[in-house]
Amino acid sequence: MPTLAERDHAVLWHPYTQMQTAPLPVPIVRGEGSWLIAEDETRYLDGISSWWVNLHGHAHPHIATRVSAQLHTLEHVLFAGFTHPSAVELAEQLLQILPANQARVFYSDNGSTAVEVALKMVMQYFHNQGQPERRTFICFRDSYHGDTFGAMSVSGRGAFTAPFGAYLFDVEFIDVPVPGRETEVLAQLDAVVARPDVAGFIFEPLLLGTAGMITYSAEVLDELVRRCHRHGVLCIADEVMTGFGRTGPLFASEYLTEQPDIMCFSKGLTGGTMAMGLTTCTATIYEAFLSEDRLRTLFHGHSYTANPVACAAALASLELTRSADCTAHRTRIATAHAAFQQQLEGQPGIRAVRHLGTVLAVEYDPGEGTSYFSNLRDALYQLALSHHVVLRPLGNVVYLLPPYCTTNEELELLYRVLSQMRELVLTLTASSTHA
Ligand SMILES: *Cc1c(COP(=O)(O)O)cnc(C)c1O
Repeated sequence: MPTLAERDHAVLWHPYTQMQTAPLPVPIVRGEGSWLIAEDETRYLDGISSWWVNLHGHAHPHIATRVSAQLHTLEHVLFAGFTHPSAVELAEQLLQILPANQARVFYSDNGSTAVEVALKMVMQYFHNQGQPERRTFICFRDSYHGDTFGAMSVSGRGAFTAPFGAYLFDVEFIDVPVPGRETEVLAQLDAVVARPDVAGFIFEPLLLGTAGMITYSAEVLDELVRRCHRHGVLCIADEVMTGFGRTGPLFASEYLTEQPDIMCFSKGLTGGTMAMGLTTCTATIYEAFLSEDRLRTLFHGHSYTANPVACAAALASLELTRSADCTAHRTRIATAHAAFQQQLEGQPGIRAVRHLGTVLAVEYDPGEGTSYFSNLRDALYQLALSHHVVLRPLGNVVYLLPPYCTTNEELELLYRVLSQMRELVLTLTASSTHA
């Protein structure tokens, strides 16, 4: 009898996976809190919330109950010409807690589609205003906004986008304004922002995830947004990763004084239960699509737009996220991260430790250059797995992005693994120096 992993290997094609060399996948049959339980009952601590989506732990009973009730009431209805209670309720609740200028909610399926919708809103906003020449986006050189073509176009170019380069539209890249480089990056923005073709600026607020959990200040982002707004450039906050408490407050945009014109959400939106994305915008943007002329309509939609089950999951998750309990857990995790950061910073083998809210990233110092494809990345991944901990290093950066229910004891286990990784890096560097 072939195992589940072997059956998988015969028929499946996994994301971001070189199928020829990847080890067999770990077969998970159950989830409980921060733990994933394998077919053979081995328990794995989910240190990255299953690719940043899970907020409250796996198979959460409150979300399960609400999803089940919704499934027994209404599983789906088309969302053009029809509506349903969960979609309306979720939009009402979100608009209450989002920055005050956000006025409309547009549903889609995932983070990439939330970004596609945002880009199309900006493009057609200017098209509808009779300014089709305004079509260029400004973005951070190392950003990641998704895997569809528009989202790839506004993302940093690299190995992942190389085969598609010829099909991606041109954008203006500016560097990430990391501490010490703020003035330089503001000058880079100034060099392009006043151009008559510039339409929008898209950014991951305060924390670039895929780039390696790179952080930058709210002050410099406020200044970038302010300068964009001065020139009528629309600003898109991609909160697909940072939304719903990840960085401490409900949204990273809460650290800002300026308000984005458009916001994108997915990942934590349903607490990691269902695939759903959404894009919100200001009344000004929405009103630019209102007309007797049908051609000014936003012609975009997905079959599963505002799926009731996903909306129910999002409502249940939002209720948990806004509870005093969850807020206390996020503070507890942030405090623990800060203490561990202090302990690790400046030690041999550590290049930098970054921390924002429930996210902690350790950049190891591997000596000579390394990349996503290096053996170090695989060695770090295997080390974590051998301790039954799920972490996915981004090259020499290993980050924690745990579910909010992760206990102090579970955090200790994660920190222990990060410390062992430092020892591994030191051993590897020593052996390569002697070779
Ligand atoms: C993951 C991510 C996306 C893409 O979301 P998908 O649901 O994977 O398509 C977009 N933007 C940011 C900031 C992300 O972290």
